[in-house]
Amino acid sequence: MNEHEELRQKYNTLAEAHEKLREKYSSLRDEFFKVSPSSRFYDIEEGDFCAECNGSGYKLYGSTATWRGGIGGQAMTTSVCDKCWGSGSKSKPWPSWRKYEELERKLNDSSR
Ligand SMILES: [Zn+2]
Repeated sequence: MNEHEELRQKYNTLAEAHEKLREKYSSLRDEFFKVSPSSRFYDIEEGDFCAECNGSGYKLYGSTATWRGGIGGQAMTTSVCDKCWGSGSKSKPWPSWRKYEELERKLNDSSR
């Protein structure tokens, strides 16, 4: 077997392995998007990403008070985005955590 043939065989072996890995990657990726919470990211139309968090649903706050605002510890803290409330979508925000807390507070107050 000459050098050229040898290289060709090596190339074929590698090309085969590459193709197998590509298939495996592709099926793993599909599986990942099925089960990952971030799969919602791919349901968002291009151009509909929340401008505040770029579609991630999370953002970094300058204090531990995060979206509650007011007084908090001085530490950068990641929490739910206060524009889309975690949906990552500009047009379909999830219900506001702030409003929910307000409602809960009112309910607790009225039951006292
Ligand atoms: Zn957002």
